[in-house]
Amino acid sequence: MWLDVLEGQRGPSPPRLSIEDATLLYEEADFNLLRSVASERRRYVNPGNHVTYMIDRNVNYTNVCTINCQFCSFYRPPGHEETYTQTYEQISARFYELEEVDGVRVLMQGGVNPELPLDWYTDLIRFLRKKHPSIALDCFSPIEIEGIAEVCGLSTIEVLKSLKDAGMHGLPGGGAEMLVDDVRLDVSPLKGSADNWLRVMKEAQSLNLTTSATNVIGFGETALHRVKHMDRIRQLQDEAMDNGWVGFTSFIAWPVQLEVNVFGKRNRGRNRIELGCGPTEYLRHVAISRLFFDNIPHIQGSWPTMGLDVAQMALFGGADDIGSTMMEENVVSASGTEKTCALEVELQEAIRRAGFVASRRDSDYNLLLTPDVSPDVQAFPAPPPLQPEAN
Ligand code: SF4
Repeated sequence: MWLDVLEGQRGPSPPRLSIEDATLLYEEADFNLLRSVASERRRYVNPGNHVTYMIDRNVNYTNVCTINCQFCSFYRPPGHEETYTQTYEQISARFYELEEVDGVRVLMQGGVNPELPLDWYTDLIRFLRKKHPSIALDCFSPIEIEGIAEVCGLSTIEVLKSLKDAGMHGLPGGGAEMLVDDVRLDVSPLKGSADNWLRVMKEAQSLNLTTSATNVIGFGETALHRVKHMDRIRQLQDEAMDNGWVGFTSFIAWPVQLEVNVFGKRNRGRNRIELGCGPTEYLRHVAISRLFFDNIPHIQGSWPTMGLDVAQMALFGGADDIGSTMMEENVVSASGTEKTCALEVELQEAIRRAGFVASRRDSDYNLLLTPDVSPDVQAFPAPPPLQPEAN
């Protein structure tokens, strides 16, 4: 039966995959056939032979946080001796480093810091806009927006409006993790329900802020939980499309990192034996996401958690983007990821060795002029373009 469902996903306009059928494919479909159909779908959604990447950097401006997610080794509670909050000048210094390598975007996220008022954020955004006008500012996550709203006594949409007026370009999709409350409220009880994340994202989309959707897997959840997560995002994207908004530009999934985290031990008593996920499961997840999201244009392969080789394999199974250079990462890496920076040449070589043309992009997925920084690596010949089926 899974074969019928999968074969039905071929061609330029397959029927929308239901939660039940997606779960069936997740649990039973042949791995290689699933990836092959997802790859075909990717070529219909994103024709041509380009795989994109972005020159950007992360800035984790504060590690003070009151939320206490069980999988997080980055945060420190207020008053802890290892807390930090970077000054505007320290943050700006990181932007200068990015400008030196032609960067176009900063992803700035931190903890939920109860000591920082809204003015601290809006003044920071204005300061950075003035000093670094060519860098797009994709900042904060829905839970940080909720934290700021609580500190200043405003609604989340009022906070988002103030940040946008100050010059913020986008609200990244961090903190979605698993938008199924059974799982979410178990691993991050203070983060609030899935509805909260989706509401703040919808507000951001209504203001034309650039948004992306993320997904962390490997908390011991089922395939059905994962598909339900995707379904919440797909529903919100439908609303965005109906309203004429851009909505989510992309979907990015990665497995939870637990190497130096006590999360696994805490959950052993609840029969959660297998946490995280390996490459095969990850690649299956990418393929399902490409087939499931008929309304989100881009699917990203994640090199920071899976490694460049697995991210490269994702390009053959539904992904059309390999992420960004990042330059630094302190949140996921605090739980065990070692590689937190990719050189442009590494991304270009990974893309080319997979047979694709490497293209720089900006935060909105506009293609940019791409210098050839790995001239010795030639792409394999491109596959022929897919033709619409005759009626
Ligand atoms: S994941 Fe984010 S919200 Fe959760 S504890 Fe860490 S910094 Fe705080």
